[in-house]
Amino acid sequence: MKLHMQILIALGLGIKRNWHIFFGIILGIIVGIFLHGHEYPLVSTILTFIGQVFIRLIQMVVIPLVVSAIIIGITSIGDNKQLGKFGTKMIVYYGIITSIAVAIGAVLALLFKPGIGAAHYIAANAASEVQASVATAMEQQHNVLNIFLGFIPSNPIHSFAAGDMVPIIVFVLIFAVALAKVGDVNRPIVSFFESVFAATMKITDWIMYFAAPGVFALTASAVSSFGIDIFTSISKYLLVLFVGFMLQLCVVYPLFLKFFSKVNIGMLYSAIAEAMMVAFGTASSSATLPLTIACCEKRGISHKIASFVLPLGATLNMDGTALLQTVAVIFLAQAYGVALTPFLIIQIALLAIIASSTCAGIPGAGLITIALILNGMGLSPEQLVAGFAFLFTIERITDMMRTLVNVTSDAVVVAAIADNENEINYDLLNNPAAYEEIA
Ligand code: ASP
Repeated sequence: MKLHMQILIALGLGIKRNWHIFFGIILGIIVGIFLHGHEYPLVSTILTFIGQVFIRLIQMVVIPLVVSAIIIGITSIGDNKQLGKFGTKMIVYYGIITSIAVAIGAVLALLFKPGIGAAHYIAANAASEVQASVATAMEQQHNVLNIFLGFIPSNPIHSFAAGDMVPIIVFVLIFAVALAKVGDVNRPIVSFFESVFAATMKITDWIMYFAAPGVFALTASAVSSFGIDIFTSISKYLLVLFVGFMLQLCVVYPLFLKFFSKVNIGMLYSAIAEAMMVAFGTASSSATLPLTIACCEKRGISHKIASFVLPLGATLNMDGTALLQTVAVIFLAQAYGVALTPFLIIQIALLAIIASSTCAGIPGAGLITIALILNGMGLSPEQLVAGFAFLFTIERITDMMRTLVNVTSDAVVVAAIADNENEINYDLLNNPAAYEEIA
């Protein structure tokens, strides 16, 4: 069967199984378009409230889930050699996928030149809203070494309390490897985290009952804030992004899986359809993580691989974000008439890989880390702020799209590694009719 047919059928099956979430997205778009430009303060308050309840509920389980998943994953892999092999493979696969995303972003942006003639859109936007956040981001990120230093938590409890995912993961990784090393004395702690993991997955099941209204409310408030007129004013920029994301989803991932595994892309998309829709609605890889793990584990990918690779992917692997950052920066450069030399393009691409992987899996994080790239390009502070203000106006919709891509690629990489390690139950993965419901 042709690839696009496979993908369409798979998505159809996924949507059929979760028609209520899909319906939530569509209804959210319709209601959002209707609400745009009208003043219904009560309706927007209620929508924001429902959306926030949903996001907060899933965020609530993320830290216990990440900690328990990594500890169980690493202690069950056990020996150092195997761990090193998985770890290396994971980084190589993430690296390949993100580099391709950045290359696609650069080629499309250079080919279609969305930024030429766009300077007046940029100047027209109010800059004040983002000035403060840009200034702080620039201050913190003027030195790439400082960013890496920030990954090592001097006080892990502080990182847990602040919800800083990268330092948390660094600490938990080291702690888990130490637990694996000490042998049988680790049993009480490992069983403790096994219980934590099981309980957080149960909570995720319950939260999913709330997914349809949650995703509906989030989509409606996002769409109502920008309306559809945004598509006509900067359609070229959005179109380039959309084409880039579609290339990742429909060409790069299928080819990647064909090349590195025998996973059928259609089946995988069908298995993770709920996670894809929730990623779109929440614009947060971290918040979607409980669901990504549930989809993978309940549909054939082993717990051992999923629990190790997915929490890391949700934080480090951001190829959708990298693609957007590349396009956005080239767009701004074109709008400002900055000469895009090959050297500058390579610099942008490399910085986008770093900036995307240092960004947290939360809404809007990718926009802030763009400061890191722009800073390296020598734009004046005024230009930077105006550029940011522009990107900010269309932030939510592009965040929804890039998060869907981020989450999908996490699942693609975990599937490839699980295949390579004989850790996939293909009878289950390839039989969507037998999939267990998440909620
Ligand atoms: N919202 C994205 C994510 O969670 C990160 C970003 O802002 O690009 O994956």
